[in-house]
Amino acid sequence: MTILFASDLDRTLIYSKNSRGKEVSEQDFAEVEWIDEKPTAFMTNKGLQLFQHITSSITFLPVTTRTAEQYNRITGLFHTAEKPKYAIVSNGAVILEDGKALTEWSDKVIAQMQQDCTSIEHVLPQLDAYKKNKFVLKVMQAESWFVYLIIDEHAFSVEDFENLSQIFYQQGFTLSHQGRKVYIMPTCINKSTALQFIKERIAATTVIAAGDSMLDFEMVLNADHGFIPSHGEAIYKGGRLPSHVSITDQAGVLAGEEILKKVSDYLL
Ligand SMILES: [Mg+2]
Repeated sequence: MTILFASDLDRTLIYSKNSRGKEVSEQDFAEVEWIDEKPTAFMTNKGLQLFQHITSSITFLPVTTRTAEQYNRITGLFHTAEKPKYAIVSNGAVILEDGKALTEWSDKVIAQMQQDCTSIEHVLPQLDAYKKNKFVLKVMQAESWFVYLIIDEHAFSVEDFENLSQIFYQQGFTLSHQGRKVYIMPTCINKSTALQFIKERIAATTVIAAGDSMLDFEMVLNADHGFIPSHGEAIYKGGRLPSHVSITDQAGVLAGEEILKKVSDYLL
């Protein structure tokens, strides 16, 4: 029996200073990512221990919207645990196998984007009008895969998000609001399809999945057991959740620890 634990990283297992919450004291944090030697992502010490314990006995699959380069910065997760053979990065547009992108996979995604007209070239001109808008601080692109906006959270309303969603949903995009970022993601770039590919490739029999955002929602629903942190965007949009998906009691970095505890209990 091969159990696959597929998990989103940011705001699910690892947390920035802004998103980690205030309940944990400084000495109980483990640093897992650094930029210019400054720590930028954290878990609790206990969470990191649980992670190391879990990944020594089951297959861990990171499933992240980060690009490969951003993913490779999270070296603190794998100090003692072995780096996973596979990683899903760029929200499912890229699958890394032993650190190298599988071209057979990304070629398929590119062909689908061309067919659906959801390439970056279709999005960027439409966003020109928003650049002057009060809430848009920057328009960014993740390699050639997707676009995200850096927004002023105080000037950004629920209606702004709904307006954007409506415009782009009809064109084949999924939108996700995560803190200071709004992702405009081609629907064919998704974590769930990439996870299905890995599940078949390694012949996994059980999938446990965790994630906080709308970009994780489908993968969590399609798993055998799913977890959504209580602060997650995905709990608001999903309506009634099926019984195999649970929402954590805790929020912030403690939700990450709670998920790891539950996965670890499942293995007993
Ligand atoms: Mg996340």
